[in-house]
Parts: sequence; structure tokens; C-alpha cells
Amino acid sequence: MTNKFDIGIIGGGPAGYTTAFHARKKGLSVVIFEKGEIGGVCLNRGCIPTKAILHSAELYEELKCSADLGIFAENIGFDYAKIVERKNNIVEKIRKNLVLALKNSGVTIVNAEAKILSDNEIGADGEIFECGKIIGATGSEPKDFPNLRFDHEFVLSSDDILSLTKLPKNILIIGSGAIGIEWARIFSAFDVEVTVVETAEHLLPLADIEVSKRIERIFKSKKIKMYLSNGVEKIENGTVTLKSGEILTPELVLLATGRKPNTVDTKICIGDACGKIQLAHFAIKQAVKEIDGTEFDETLVPSVVYGCPEIAWVGKREQDLEEGTYEKSSMLISALGKSHCDNCTEGFIKILVQDDKIVGAHIVSKEASALIQEVTIAMQNNSSIEDLKKVCFAHPTYSEGLFESLFRL
Ligand SMILES: Cc1cc2nc3c(=O)[nH]c(=O)nc-3n(C[C@H](O)[C@H](O)[C@H](O)COP(=O)(O)OP(=O)(O)OC[C@H]3O[C@@H](n4cnc5c(N)ncnc54)[C@H](O)[C@@H]3O)c2cc1C
Repeated sequence: MTNKFDIGIIGGGPAGYTTAFHARKKGLSVVIFEKGEIGGVCLNRGCIPTKAILHSAELYEELKCSADLGIFAENIGFDYAKIVERKNNIVEKIRKNLVLALKNSGVTIVNAEAKILSDNEIGADGEIFECGKIIGATGSEPKDFPNLRFDHEFVLSSDDILSLTKLPKNILIIGSGAIGIEWARIFSAFDVEVTVVETAEHLLPLADIEVSKRIERIFKSKKIKMYLSNGVEKIENGTVTLKSGEILTPELVLLATGRKPNTVDTKICIGDACGKIQLAHFAIKQAVKEIDGTEFDETLVPSVVYGCPEIAWVGKREQDLEEGTYEKSSMLISALGKSHCDNCTEGFIKILVQDDKIVGAHIVSKEASALIQEVTIAMQNNSSIEDLKKVCFAHPTYSEGLFESLFRL
């Protein structure tokens, strides 16, 4: 049997489903192949489930010090299995809505592994699908190494960690990228003893150096142990030997040292599979560009690391700029009235400027994920500092910090 479509998409994650929606809006016939679950890593094993658990962690952490705010909560505790159940329900609900939306928009969904047969043919579920254009959106998977293998019992991946229904007493997290940092914060909030090992000199190596140092300070205050400029030599029989010689015996290990693209032999490959920036919004923008031709600046993709306080940045880091070629404005979040009202005074806003334009912004603050968007829009529109100074910011907000920063330049 042969099926004909204008577009065949392999992978039902953000890259795949966004392509499908936009192609349908253009009136194209679309088939999408998904061997796992629609929504991909983002919805099922990434962005959404971690943030659902993180929300419970943050609430628990806030309740622990609620007396400071005049709120008395007795016998505060948590049921981790219930937290995971809530996460599962959220994921399931969003997935059902997504599948329904795809079907309602006229997308054909094939729940099977797809194989490329030729430039215009895909084989799946014992059938051949003839497609005018094939788009690879096959995503990525957790990466392990010859001396550091996932065994899914002691050495866990970011997928495995989501299925835990009971928390360990302590955990070793290898790698301090976004996934490592977010899980360190989740576990620490739930009173799990956390140790992080990072090969780079500082946590969150892709961030601006001041952000990394601030996160180290915050981790220290939360008694999260850090081994920096270090690494894991080997893991044997429940024992982890670090490059520095220390021997650790954690209850569990989370190996969060990156993700490998699922390569696919297609002319067009988007999202995590293309091996560029592994973020859902990057995948989505690539999908929109592919179908609608809407260009976007790949140097202006914001990064956000969730938790309390949030960490966000866009553009250039200070360590990448040549001394004397830029201006910088830094301000502490504690200078903002709102931060005191919210009991969230930790953090700073740093703006880097060249030729009267913002070239980078680095924020550690509650609501940093929203603030970075404001800066990204300004950068995208090539707005001058003088023009931005004319914008009226509401009070009391964290956005005021951006406004205040502009006047400190
Ligand atoms: C723990 C964690 C937290 C994250 N948090 C964030 C965050 O907060 N913000 C953010 O922007 N990003 C986050 N990410 C990254 C984000 O999940 C990915 O960038 C995003 O999912 C990439 O989308 P994609 O469509 O390219 O690939 P995926 O979401 O990986 O989807 C690819 C799909 O293709 C399917 N597939 C693969 N091969 C085939 C085949 N041959 N046939 C049929 N189907 C196939 C897979 O089953 C998968 O469902 C996180 C990731 C993790 C692991």
C-alpha cells in the first residue's frame, strides 16, 4: 500500500509537531512518525516533567521558611510518589491535547519507527509513505561514555531520574549543565544531600563567569558539595572514583553530561537531531523557518536554567568580549523593592553594551525567564540604549531592574 503526502516528518517532538502545524496551516498534507510518544523529549522526559517536579520542590522550600513571612504551616512534608503522579498527569493531559490538536488540524500520525527508504520514501509499520519532502526531527538521547555507562539502577540518565518514586538520601550529579543544575536544585530542596562533579573550572560552564560564580555561592549556601575542575575516573560496585583520587559512595548517580543527536539520513534535519543548540525553542524556531521561511537570529537564542532563583542569559558573555571594547552595567536584585516583597533578594542583572546596543544580558533572579525575553526583543530589534531608556516599566517589578541598569551605563 502506498500513501502520498506533501511532507513526511520523522519525530513528534517540538521540532516535528511545530513543522506539522505550520505545514497544515499552509494547506500541505502531512504525515508525522513517532516511535515513542508525541511531544518528544520536551513534553515526556524533559522541559515539562522536570518543571512540574521543580514546582513542588520550590513550594516545599518556600513552606520551610514560611514563618519568616508570618505564615505558620505545621508538619510540612511531602509525598514524592504523589509529586511524580502529578507530573505524570500533567504530561498525559498536555500530550492528549497535543495529539488531538494534531489530528484536528488534519495531520496523519503514524505511531511507529520510521526508516528512510529513498529521498522521497519512508517505511513504517509495514507500509511505504511517499513524501514530497522529508524532514528529520528525531531529537537526541542521553549520552554516556565507555568508562561511564548508564546501568539504569545506580547510574541513571535524565530519563531514569524522572521515574523515581522514592528519593535517595544522597545523590552524585555528574555534569553541571542545565539538567544537572536543575536536578541539583530539585533534590536539594527535598533535603537530599547533593554532590556535583564538573570537569570545567566553574559550574554551568556555558554561562557568563559571574553567573557561574553566583550559582556556586548559592549552592554553597544550600550545602551542595561541588568538585570543580574534576571528573569521574571510574564507577565500580557502587563506588565512584574521581580524577582527583577522592572516592565517593553515593546512593545514586545522575549522569548529566550531555545528549547525543539521533542522526537521520534526511536532507533537512531540525531540532536536537541537527546537533546545534539543544533547546525546545530553538527546535520550534527552526521548524517555523523551515515551513514559513521566517528567519531568526541563531545568536539570539535565550538560555534559561530553572529553579530558585532562575538563571537566564542571551547574547555574548563577558569573558568572550575584549577588554576595553564594551560597557557593563550590573545591579543587585536586592536593589528592587519587589524582591524584598517576594523574599527573593538573591541575584543580579548584568547588561553588556557595545556601540550603544545590548550585546549580552545575564540574569540571576526570580522571573529571569521572563526578563530575558524583554532583552531578547530589544536585541532582536537592534534597539539603542537611548531608545530603551524611553520605555516605561511598571513598578514594582523585576523588569524595573533592566530599566535601572540602562541608566547605570
Ligand atoms: C531533563 C531535560 C530538561 C529539559 N529542559 C528544557 C527546558 O527547560 N527548555 C528547553 O528549551 N529545552 C529543554 N530540554 C531540551 C528539549 O527537551 C529538547 O531540546 C527538545 O525536546 C528537542 O526537540 P526535538 O523535536 O528536536 O526532539 P525530541 O523532543 O527529542 O523529539 C524527537 C522525537 O523523535 C522520535 N524519533 C526518533 N527517531 C525516530 C524514528 N526513526 N521514527 C519515529 N520517531 C522517531 C523520538 O521518539 C522523539 O519523540 C530539556 C531536556 C531534558 C532531557
